Amino acid sequence: GTATARARSAVLETLIQRDPGRFRILTGDRPTGRLHLGHYFGTLHNRVRLQNLGVETFVIIADYQVLTDRDAAENLPEYVEDLVLDYLAIGVDPARSTIFAHSAVPALNQLLLPFLSLVSVAELSRNPTVKDEIAHSRQSSVSGLMFTYPAHQAADILFCKANLVPAGQDQLPHLELTRTVARRFNDRYGGATPVFPEPEVLLSNAPLLLGTDGVKMSKSRGNAVTLAADADETARLIRGAKTDSERHITYDPANRPEVSSLVLLAALCQGRTAQEVAAGIGSGGAAALKRTVTEAVNDHLAPIRARRAEYGRDRTYLRQILRDGNERANAVADATLTQVRSAMNSNY
Ligand code: ATP
Ligand code: MG
Repeated sequence: GTATARARSAVLETLIQRDPGRFRILTGDRPTGRLHLGHYFGTLHNRVRLQNLGVETFVIIADYQVLTDRDAAENLPEYVEDLVLDYLAIGVDPARSTIFAHSAVPALNQLLLPFLSLVSVAELSRNPTVKDEIAHSRQSSVSGLMFTYPAHQAADILFCKANLVPAGQDQLPHLELTRTVARRFNDRYGGATPVFPEPEVLLSNAPLLLGTDGVKMSKSRGNAVTLAADADETARLIRGAKTDSERHITYDPANRPEVSSLVLLAALCQGRTAQEVAAGIGSGGAAALKRTVTEAVNDHLAPIRARRAEYGRDRTYLRQILRDGNERANAVADATLTQVRSAMNSNY
């Protein structure tokens, strides 16, 4: 569970610091809207930090995955460009990180087929994240894609032989499946030399940031403060955030999830501990807490928002970044597919 993953993340952190060249990252996002603070503190921040340490990084824009929980992928070109913009604004460097779109790399889907043969229907149906997403889905029936997308993600991760995935808590079951796929593929087809690594999740200090309604901050739930929002909108959203009736502010995630998530947010923005932030507000109550959070978020995001506006002026550049990234990802995926086919004896 999460406690084990957190402990392991701390160990991984030491290993990365010691030898960043041993690691390769794959992470990504669905182009379902603009990125928000949950993404930022849940994974984006780690991606940039590790990229800057010299860890080779692949960032997938998971456009096919948009269709897991809705019938049509709306505003796709706009949302894809928005993701690239958000990445650039937070410091993803296209010279060092490969940003690409799933649909532009056909070899990914060829990996999916053997991978699907390695997992059971029972394993797919007990995935808790998928169950939760089905419960919140706008569709009346569950598509085959919703059911199998964790296997799709295994292909997204393993095509580039990534061994590290900075992600939020919801990804833990998916990563478990990716590890299973890698292990079974190696056992069945690998011979003496394993083809795939067994990747690990790197959780941040905010693996599950809550939105203004008190549940996981999420692009699709309308409860998010986006990186792109302006200062006034940020203030308005945080003012409307759910809290509780107790006046004295404390940091107590188990018993006061909404208040604690706000406290944590201010702490992360200000580089302080959550306990310090809570103590500083004390009996100021929810109103003082929200003022602190608003100011902390707006201060922290100001330079990111300025860069975002700057990059937003040149849409041609955004598309060029994607084309370059797609090309690099295709070369890597083709090489892996060749290896997979020869391991499976289907290289005729
Ligand atoms: P959607 O509602 O469309 O699924 P989302 O907000 O859940 O969007 P994803 O694109 O599914 O975003 O997730 C991208 C990455 O961000 C994943 O690694 C996920 O774990 C992480 N993430 C998303 N929301 C949060 C959150 N509230 N707290 C921490 N990490 C998050
Ligand atoms: Mg999601």
